[in-house]
Amino acid sequence: MHRSLIRPVHSYVGQDGILRRIGNPPGVGPGITYGPIANRRQVTNLPYKLALLLLFVFCTLATAEPADWIYTAHYVVTMDPQHRLIEDGAIAIRADRIVGVGKRADIEKQFQARQRLDRPTALIMPGLVNTHTHAAMSLLRGIADDLRLQDWLEKYIFPAEAKNVTPDFVLWGTRLACLEMMLSGTTTYVDMYYFEDRVAQATKEAGMRGVLGETILQFKSPDSATPKDALQLTEKFLQQYHGDPLIVAAVAPHAIFTNTDADLRAARKLADKYKAPLLIHLSETKRENDDALKTRGMSPTRLLDLLGVLEGPVIAAHGVWLDDADMKILKAHATGIAHCPSSNMKLASGVAAIGKLFSLGIPVGLGTDGPAGSNNDFDLMEEMNLAANLQKVTTGDPTALPAEQAIAMATILGARVAGLDKEIGSLEPGKRADLITLRLDRPHAVPMYNVYSQIVYALKGSDVEDVVVNGKPIVREGRSLTLNQISILAKAKEYGAKIAASLK
Ligand SMILES: [Zn+2]
Repeated sequence: MHRSLIRPVHSYVGQDGILRRIGNPPGVGPGITYGPIANRRQVTNLPYKLALLLLFVFCTLATAEPADWIYTAHYVVTMDPQHRLIEDGAIAIRADRIVGVGKRADIEKQFQARQRLDRPTALIMPGLVNTHTHAAMSLLRGIADDLRLQDWLEKYIFPAEAKNVTPDFVLWGTRLACLEMMLSGTTTYVDMYYFEDRVAQATKEAGMRGVLGETILQFKSPDSATPKDALQLTEKFLQQYHGDPLIVAAVAPHAIFTNTDADLRAARKLADKYKAPLLIHLSETKRENDDALKTRGMSPTRLLDLLGVLEGPVIAAHGVWLDDADMKILKAHATGIAHCPSSNMKLASGVAAIGKLFSLGIPVGLGTDGPAGSNNDFDLMEEMNLAANLQKVTTGDPTALPAEQAIAMATILGARVAGLDKEIGSLEPGKRADLITLRLDRPHAVPMYNVYSQIVYALKGSDVEDVVVNGKPIVREGRSLTLNQISILAKAKEYGAKIAASLK
């Protein structure tokens, strides 16, 4: 239903004795003109015509399905199984779900929405899924760069975390991270850190979706004296967020080299009890693999398999040093991989064999990893670009990881890795309404020959204009509707000064 049709139309006789209609400006109302009506017959027919018009409006309203929102755009990039790309497209949303996806004219005919947003110079695509990060580390952004992993961890990160990571730090750090993520198009993220209840609190304030796990370590951590304490905190968190519409509570043992076999087994048991996903770092560095081979006589993947950790949904971050036998194991268990190109490049960890993983049908999503030194930001648009280019330069094959596949990694495949592909990751009726709009009216966005190429090789996180999660708008015209940017930035600077002083 076109909005101008339902505008009230009034008639009146002017001082010159000529009947006029008002209500629609020139050229807007379909079939209704503004101005003198010279023909007397038309004057006498007017009530009849109005009645017909009202009847038409009534019938259209009566047959149209109700919706809360209609979003229209130049393109709708669905990432559905057919990868439908709809020009002059629209999405209809009712409550938290998508109820219609199609051509604008068809959606407008089929649905009568209470509200609408038209973006004729933008595209709509599914919200982005960040499959691996440590959000609250935003407050440690750039604290130490260009260092070897061991120096970075031991001289900077561990001391900074020991002195500064409190529930308040995690709350504000996650608020800062969520603000940055939503403004660059991420709607769902997978997180492992400490005080995960505060991570969940900030995520819900933001109106974002999170798969969140309390980090389990064999050492003392900022919130747990022992791994047993961390497992207990995890169980409490699993109970607290059971059935939450936005939060999926997970179990997150850090890695094979920071957890005992017994703790890894206990983590698996806990995940089984609550049917929760398990998050872990896997084969990130050559050293991790070499040490496992030396001390355990097998690869990290083989060890996890032997311990039964892979018997259930697992999100394994990195997977840089997987060999063919490892990949076979992961394939057999349908383990998902979070590929983090920025982190792997910056820490010189190596390059994951994405083409091989895909050829085996192993789901691979994209992750930013933490912003403290392995990336420094949460921009998933940048990760799409880096993932595509990294595969090309390392395989010597410019056809490796094409743009459309990089977008799938950031959307539907990321959702599959996160165990949420039945609910999110593509724009299809029945799925949750998680979507973003990207501006197409800036110099780097014109002309456009291929929408997928434009998204991966030209558009930026800063082109995100609107974000909707679970049917609810959380970003409009590049501004957060849920988080207070001024107070978050002020608090982040305050923390920055405090953390710098603590390291002196
Ligand atoms: Zn990580």
